[in-house]
Order: sequence, then structure tokens, then C-alpha cells
Amino acid sequence: MAPAVNPSSLAHHPLSTQPAVTPVHTGLMWFRRDLRTDDNAALFYALKHCKALHAVFVFDRTILDALPRKNDRRVEFIWHSVAELKATLQAAGGDLHVLHAPAAQAIPALAQQLGAQAVFTNKDYEPAARERDASVRQTLADQGCPFYTFKDTVLFEEDEVLTQGGKFFSVFTPFKNACLKKLDPFHLTAYPSAQRLASGVLAKPSSPPPLPSLQAMGFETTNILELVTPGQQGALAALDDFLTRIDRYKTARDFPAVKGVSYLSVHMRFGTVSVRRCGRAAWERFQANGSEGAMGWLNELIWRDFYFQIIFHRPDAAQNAFRPEYDLIVWDADEKAQRLFEAWCEGRTGYPLVDAAMRQLNQTGYQHNRLRMVTASFLTKDLGIDWRWGERYFADHLNDFDLSANNGGWQWAASSGCDAQPYFRIFNPVNQSEKFDPEGKFIRKYCPELAKLPNKVIHAPWACPPLELQAAHVVLGETYPRPVVDHDFARKKTLERYAVVKKSTPEAD
Ligand code: FAD
Repeated sequence: MAPAVNPSSLAHHPLSTQPAVTPVHTGLMWFRRDLRTDDNAALFYALKHCKALHAVFVFDRTILDALPRKNDRRVEFIWHSVAELKATLQAAGGDLHVLHAPAAQAIPALAQQLGAQAVFTNKDYEPAARERDASVRQTLADQGCPFYTFKDTVLFEEDEVLTQGGKFFSVFTPFKNACLKKLDPFHLTAYPSAQRLASGVLAKPSSPPPLPSLQAMGFETTNILELVTPGQQGALAALDDFLTRIDRYKTARDFPAVKGVSYLSVHMRFGTVSVRRCGRAAWERFQANGSEGAMGWLNELIWRDFYFQIIFHRPDAAQNAFRPEYDLIVWDADEKAQRLFEAWCEGRTGYPLVDAAMRQLNQTGYQHNRLRMVTASFLTKDLGIDWRWGERYFADHLNDFDLSANNGGWQWAASSGCDAQPYFRIFNPVNQSEKFDPEGKFIRKYCPELAKLPNKVIHAPWACPPLELQAAHVVLGETYPRPVVDHDFARKKTLERYAVVKKSTPEAD
């Protein structure tokens, strides 16, 4: 890569794909999944091109009213992050309007009320968000107010990285290679938005709008604060912590009992950290010491971009198999399937690693990446249940739920996605357990009823000699379930189920 870019030249940089902005007197900055003042593209442009800038965050009722649970950890994470953002803006002489309303109507109404001549926001690539933004753009246009949207969430967006034939990439490795080739210091340079807060541009409303309480919005407090520190400060601390471990990432990332990954995904999701800051940290480490861990982590950030560009180009994949022939598969959906699905959701399948993983999700809102692959494979290929059921459950429970990565991950596991694992690759949940939790540490944490089982049998208690079970106080079918399916039998059934897609020679994992 070439030498670093001067941040003040960002807006004029030849690689910039950001829109040209006509300066105005009064502007409105709409924060969404970018809850930070540090390195925020839209905030930078808004501060640069307005003389008086208002700011707003909307707890969007179109989204919140549809959430199935009132004890949703994400709403509380957002609430704390918004509180921090409001305090930061107040300290800089401004404030944050916080509304609880349908955003598509609330934003144009607020813009009108404040006399805003332009609205600034960072892009969201999900299909529903794009529809909402198209409607906001139209309403604002009718009011004579431009709506500027910026690339901020990803390193590369939309059509920035295409194949030589001008198509979007549907295979990861060439996409990654193209990204790494294109990665200029510009793409990793921070927008000096936080520095510009002091420029006196932030507008102070005469009666500062109060932050509605969680309860007033119909939500309850959860255990999120025991698990993660929200806000920009929490994100930067988590990134600093990870940077002390990043060199070990490649070797440690697959072991759920080891602190090997960054745990930054909820911050990435709500933009309390900038992807450029993360990418730059990884790149600088790689340049400094050739760290394989840092390059491995950058690779994951590019997976994230990959799935964003997939959902942008194929919004229909949110409902349908990316590869249409996979929608010919007939999934089990009868009462038995419903019972099996409930056992999966609740961590009662009788497969300890699967159960521990699902209990981790239920208790914390997080599930380790290796386990997401194991549980998703188990649902689709051991239980024969439609990936969309699992995708929905993850969407409701993951703190870091992102439509693009979640859909991509589920379709990868179900083999219906772009660059997915072949359908005849079927994870063996016991082998996965022996390989990635060899001492059963993770299993013991979330399935304490198995804690006394020796390492060699904890992965498959049904195969444990009765005396050993007794010594460990395990009674199958009472203290811990018997397996709900036989993996070898399920594997054969899955190969038959997938035969509608195409005939191929089965392989073992
Ligand atoms: P790290 O290993 O530290 O990775 C750093 C960051 O890179 C992550 O925070 C994330 O933003 C990104 N990333 C890592 N792996 C992937 C990946 N495979 N695809 C896309 N981005 C990735 N990730 C989500 O952010 N939201 C989801 O809803 C989501 N659902 C998933 C569902 C399934 C079935 C699978 C298999 C994976 C899913 N992932 C999802 C990807 C991955 O599991 C999580 O990003 C990761 O576990 C988050 O933990 P971390 O921040 O410690 O990750």
C-alpha cells in the first residue's frame, strides 16, 4: 500500500465515492447503525458543509414494535450507546434529538420542524432499510431538502469491487483478492469527525429533547451490561483488548472455550466502532510483524463486506435460496419437526456441543462462530429443518444480528448460498466437539449437568458406560436428554433430501 492519506484531504480524494454536497446553513445528521462520533463519514461531511447542525436518533417503531421479546438485549445496548452519544454531543455544545416513532415519517417531519436544508446519514444496505430510505428521500425531496447518504459501514460497497466482467462476486476468495488489491490507505483512513465537533457547528435546541426510558418504549432491562460495555468507549476498549491478542487469532479463533476472537461484532453491528479503524489496526499489525492473526482477522472483515455486497445485489436472498435449485428441497415441517426445532432452540438435543452453543446464545445473545456453523449445520442437516427457521431464531436472539452475515452464514451452512459448503459436507457434531472443545470446557460451562463426565465421553454421553454415567450423576433422559436423532441415519436422510439438487458422490467430513 502507498503512504497514509492526510485526513483533511478525504473529501477531495480521487478514490472517494462519497456524494458531492452543496453547503447549507442548517442540516440534520441522522444516526442509525453508526452510534459514534469517531471516524463517522456522514457526521464528517455534515459538520463540514453546515453552519448549524442538528442530530437525531430514532428508536424506529417500525422495527421495534415487531420484536418478539420485550427483554431484547439489543435495544438496551442501543439505548446506552445513544445515551453516550447524546452526552458527547452535549459536551461539544450540541444535543441529540431522540425520537420513538416510525422513522420514515419522523425524519422528514423533524427536518421540516428544524428548518433543515439537508439531511445526512450513513448508508444501510438491507432491503427494508433501502426501501425506507427511498421513501424518506422522496418525502424530503418533496420538501425541497436533499438527502445525502454516505459509505461508512463497510470498506467497499455496492459496485466498488466487481469481477472483470463487471458482475458482483459470488465467490469469496477472488472477492477478497480484489479487495486487497484495491485497498489503498484512503480506504482505511479515519474521517476526522470527532475533531470537527469542536468547530462550533453543532446546534443546541432550545428545549433539549429527553431520552425516552426503555420502559417508556415498552422494553425491559436485560443482562447486557454484564456481557459487554456499549457505546464508543466500550468498543474502543474491546478493540484495544483484542489488539493484545490479535497475533494469536488464526490459531485460537476456532475454540469457543478460548478467548481467541474479538467479540466486537455487536459494536460492528451498531457502529460503535468504525470498520476503517478495525481494518487499519489489522493492516498496520500485519505490516509491522507479518502477523498471520492480523491478516486472518482482516479476512473476516472482508467476509463481512462480501455478505453486504451479496445482499445489496441479491436482496431476494433474504427470502429465497441464493441458488434457486435449493428451494426445491422439501424440509420437515410437521409436529415432530416443530418439537425438534424447540429442542434445538432450547439446547436439549442431547448433543452436548450443540446444546451448550444454543444455551450460550439464549443466555448471552452471542454464539461463537465455530458454533454458529455447528448449530446451523445440525438444524438443517441433522434435523432436516428449513434454514429459514434457524435464521429467524438467530435474528431474534443474536446481539450482533445483521441480515447480510446471518443470511450468508445460514445459506452457507445449508449449502444454498454463494460460495457455500457443498451439500454433501455434513458436520459430525461429535467430531466437531472433540476437535474444537477437546477438554469439554465450553460444554461444562453451559451444560453443568455434564460437568463431571470425563473428557473422552463428554462429547457423546449416550456412548458412555453406565458406571461412568452414574459416577458423574448423569441420568440420560432425566438429567440430560438422549440424542434426538442418530447422526449417521440423519446424514443418509439429508443426502436423499438434497438429491433433488443434484446427484454427487458423498464425502465424509
Ligand atoms: P471475529 O472473529 O473477531 O471477527 C471480526 C468481525 O468480522 C466480526 O465482528 C464480524 O463483523 C466479521 N465477521 C467474522 N466472521 C464473519 C462471517 N463469517 N461473516 C460475516 N462477517 C464476519 N455475524 C454477524 O455479525 N451477524 C450475524 O447475524 C451473523 N450470523 C451468523 C450466522 C451463521 C449461521 C454463521 C455461520 C455466522 C454468522 N455470523 C454473523 C458471522 C460470525 O459468526 C460472527 O460475525 C462472529 O462470530 C462474531 O464474533 P466476533 O466479533 O468475535 O468475530
